[in-house]
Amino acid sequence: MNTGRCAACKYLRRRCPVDCIFSPYFPPTNPHRFASVHRIFGASNVGKMLQQLPVHLRGEAAETLYYEAQCRIENPVHGCVGIITQLHEEINNAEQELARAQAQLAVHQPHHHHHQQEIEEAVTGEGAEPMVPGDHAQEVAAEVAGNVEDSDQNEFDIAALMSPSDPDWFY
Ligand SMILES: [Zn+2]
Repeated sequence: MNTGRCAACKYLRRRCPVDCIFSPYFPPTNPHRFASVHRIFGASNVGKMLQQLPVHLRGEAAETLYYEAQCRIENPVHGCVGIITQLHEEINNAEQELARAQAQLAVHQPHHHHHQQEIEEAVTGEGAEPMVPGDHAQEVAAEVAGNVEDSDQNEFDIAALMSPSDPDWFY
């Protein structure tokens, strides 16, 4: 018999068998983790779910169950969906911001052969670009270019944000 029971067996006040299904994923050092999962899914369901999975997926499954349980406890109505909805809203806002920025960029950038035009203008001395006081147009363009670069990543970082292995969600 193990000297220390796992969090699940401790909680359920039972002996922790050597091949305990919970033991690798619910260490006694974190009783809260099992309590949450038990409260939402029920210990026997959690055990069954883990049992049905190949061993190499159980750790991640336990992590996901814990994450979902936490969300459900914090937001009994929406659970994880609340967070997903919120992230969708953020994506929408970012996309709208990007569209506005691109529209602005289109206004400030003359046309396709931007650099060639600039060279020609420099040579002929004709400045076709309407300059706002200061170098505002260029500032905006630089800012917009920065936004456009960043937004590329926003779309794919959602998966990272949702990752149950992100410890920021739990503590
Ligand atoms: Zn156990």
